[in-house]
Amino acid sequence: MNSLRFEALNGLFNNNSKKTSFVYDTEAEFAQNVFNDLALQKSLNQDAYQEISKVIFKGTKISRALADQIAAAMRSWARSKGATHYTHWFQPLTGATAEKHQSFFDLSDASQAIEQFDGSQLVQQEPDASSFPSGGIRNTFEARGYTAWDPTSPAFIYGKTLCIPTIFVSYTGEALDYKTPLIRSLSQLDKAATEVARYFDKNTQKVYATLGWEQEYFLIDKTLAASRPDLILTGRTLMGHESAKGQQLNDHYFGSIPARALSFMQELEYQSLLLGIPVKTRHNEVAPAQFELAPIFEEANLSVDHNALLLDVMNKIADKHDFMVLLHEKPFSGINGSGKHNNWSLKTSSGINLLSPGKTPMNNLQFLTFFINTIVAVLNHESLLRGSIVSASNELRLGSDEAPMPIISVFIGEQLTDVLNNLEQVSEGKLSPKEKTDLKLNVIGKIPEILLDNTDQNRTSPFAFTGNKFEFRAVGSKTNCAKPITVLNSIVAEQLSIFKAKVDGRLENPKMKKDDAIFNELRDSIKHIRTILFEGDGYSETWIKNAKKRGLNPATSTPDAIKAYLAPKSITLFKGLKVFSERELESRVEVDLQQYTYALQIEGRALGDIARNHIIPTAIKYQNTLIDNVKGLKEIYGKDFESHAKEQMLILERISGHIAQINLGVGDMISERKKANLLDDSYEKASAYHKLVKPYFESIRYHCDKLELLVDNSIWPLAKYRELLFSR
Ligand code: ADP
Ligand code: MG
Repeated sequence: MNSLRFEALNGLFNNNSKKTSFVYDTEAEFAQNVFNDLALQKSLNQDAYQEISKVIFKGTKISRALADQIAAAMRSWARSKGATHYTHWFQPLTGATAEKHQSFFDLSDASQAIEQFDGSQLVQQEPDASSFPSGGIRNTFEARGYTAWDPTSPAFIYGKTLCIPTIFVSYTGEALDYKTPLIRSLSQLDKAATEVARYFDKNTQKVYATLGWEQEYFLIDKTLAASRPDLILTGRTLMGHESAKGQQLNDHYFGSIPARALSFMQELEYQSLLLGIPVKTRHNEVAPAQFELAPIFEEANLSVDHNALLLDVMNKIADKHDFMVLLHEKPFSGINGSGKHNNWSLKTSSGINLLSPGKTPMNNLQFLTFFINTIVAVLNHESLLRGSIVSASNELRLGSDEAPMPIISVFIGEQLTDVLNNLEQVSEGKLSPKEKTDLKLNVIGKIPEILLDNTDQNRTSPFAFTGNKFEFRAVGSKTNCAKPITVLNSIVAEQLSIFKAKVDGRLENPKMKKDDAIFNELRDSIKHIRTILFEGDGYSETWIKNAKKRGLNPATSTPDAIKAYLAPKSITLFKGLKVFSERELESRVEVDLQQYTYALQIEGRALGDIARNHIIPTAIKYQNTLIDNVKGLKEIYGKDFESHAKEQMLILERISGHIAQINLGVGDMISERKKANLLDDSYEKASAYHKLVKPYFESIRYHCDKLELLVDNSIWPLAKYRELLFSR
C-alpha cells in the first residue's frame, strides 16, 4: 500500500513530548479515535448493524435493545483504546462545546467495582445544566436540560474520554443548543430537495447539505499575550498603536510558514487526523501572524461537529506550543480580521453535487434549478441570513480590511450572469423546438466550460458562487457553523417547496413538458433575483446607497440585525418547517442580545481598567522622569533652562492632555454603562451599549495609542502590535 507519510509531533496529551517528532501513517491512523461506520460494522452483528444504518439514513427512532448493543460495543472499543470516562458532548449557546465526564466505573449492589455503560446512558443524560444560556426557556418550566444522542455524528475519543455527540434540549423538548435546529433543518432540506431532485432523477433517495469551512486564526506568543489583559479577557486588543509595518507588503500571505507555527500545525493536523477531521489545507493568511486551515468538506452535521471540536483542539495544542490562538474576528485593528468561509452545497445519497454542472443539458438544468432557487432563498431572507452571522466581535470585522460588507448580496460572476440573461428570454408556456435546441446547445450546454474561471477576485462578496458551491464569507471565525447553516438550509428548503408547488401547478396542464415548466419557473425567478446580485466593490459609497434603494437590509446595528429572527416572515418560515418554534426563536434572540451586551460590557470594563490602572500610571511615571529632567536642566542652566527644556515641557503637556481625555472618557463611559444596565429590555440594553457605550471605546483608545507613541518604550506595560504580530 502506498501510504502517505508525514512528520508530526507527538501526542496531544503527553506533556513531555513537545519536541519529539515522529512519523505517522495517514491511511492507517485516520479516524483511529472515532467510533465510525467501520467500527460499528466490525463490532456489531449483521442485523444490528443494518438496523443502526437504517436509523441513521432515515432518522428514525432507535430501540432500547439496539442502544444497549451499541453501548456495549462502544464501551469495549473505548476501553480498548484506554478511555476511562465518557461524556455527552454538546454545543450550548455559549458558543463553546460542553462536556461533563463520567467514569465507566460504578459500584454493583454488592459494592464491587464494575464497569457500567448501557443504552440508557448512551441515549440520554441530564447534566446539571442550569447555567447554560437558555433565553428564558428553562425559567418558566423546569430548570432541567437533557442531552440526547445524535447517532448521525460518530462518537470519538478525546484525551481519555469517549465523547458522544448529543443535542441539548429542555424538559419540554425545546432546543437549548445549536445542533437541534440544525438537525431539524437538515431533515427539512432533505425532504424538499429530494422532491425537486426527483424531477431529474426519479431514484433520488436523500439529499444532504455539505459543508467545508475555512478556519482563519491568529497565533500569538503566549508570554507576550499574557501581558495583555484585553487579549486574555476579551480575545482582542482594545488598544495598541498600529505597527510601522503591518500587512501592506503582503509578504506574509501564502509565504513560507514560520517554523514554530508549522510545528503547531503539524501537531494539530495529526490530532485532527486521529479524530477523523479531514484537514487538508494550511497556509499563511494576509495579516501578519494570521493563518488558515481548511478540511475536505463533509456532510454538514458532521462538519459542524468537526469545526467545534477543532477549535477546542486548537486551543489545547497552541498552549502546548506556547502560543495563544486568537479566534476572535478582529483581534487587531487596522489589519485583516478572521472569518470562517462556509462552503455549502447539496449532495444526493448517490454522490451527485446538485450545485455542480454536469455533462448533459438536463444535468445543467438541474444545476440551474438548485443554483437559482438558492439565490431566491437568499433574496427572500437576506436579513435573516445576516442575523445568523452577526455578533459583537464580527461587527468589528465586517465592512473593512477585505472582509465582506454587512449587507447580504450574491456574487455569481459574469458568465453565469450571461446564462441568466439568456434564460430570462425563454417564452411563456411550451418552448419552441428551435428555442429549446438553442438553449440546450448554446446556453446551458456550455455551463461546465464557462464555470472553470468563475472567481471572485475582490473576495469581499458576503455570499459568492464559486464553481460548484456557495461560499458564505460573512461568517465569523468564532461562530458555530450550525447557526448560519441552519438558516441557509431552512430558507432553501422553503424555497424548493415553493418552486416544486409552482412547477407542479404548471404540469397540471397535460400539454406541458417537465423541462418547459422548469424553464418557465426559473425564468420568473430570474426577474426577482437581480435585486440581490452584485458583482462590484462592496465598499463603494454607491453600493451602500444602491443596496438601500434595492431594499436590502442596510448596515444597521448588530442588535437590529439579530431581531431579523423575529420578523414575521422568519417566524412563518421556521414554524412552517418546525425548525424553531416561536418561543425558541424568542429565546435565541434573547440569548444573542444578551451575549452582545455582555461582550461590550466586558470590553468596556477591561478598557476602563487598563486605561486607568496601566496606561495612566505609566504615563505619569514617564512624566515624572521628564519633570526630573527639567528640574535638572534648571539646576545646570539656571535662567536659560527653558531653551533646553522646551521640548520636554511640550511632551509633558501633551501627556497631561491625553491623560485628561482618557480619564474623562472612562468616567463618561462608566456612567453610560450604568444607565444602560438599568434597562430591562434586552434589545434596548444591547442598543444602548451599541449607541452610547461603544463609541467611547474608540475615543479612549485613541488617546492611549497616542500615549504609546510618546512614553518611554522600556516602561510601556503592554506588548505592542509589532511584538505581538512579528515575534516568531
Ligand atoms: P478557496 O479558494 O476559497 O480557499 P477551496 O477550493 O480551497 O477554496 O475550497 C474551500 C473549501 O470548500 C474546502 O473546505 C472544500 O472542502 C470546500 N468545498 C469544496 N467543494 C465543496 C462542496 N461541494 N460542498 C461543500 N464544501 C465544498
Ligand atoms: Mg474561501
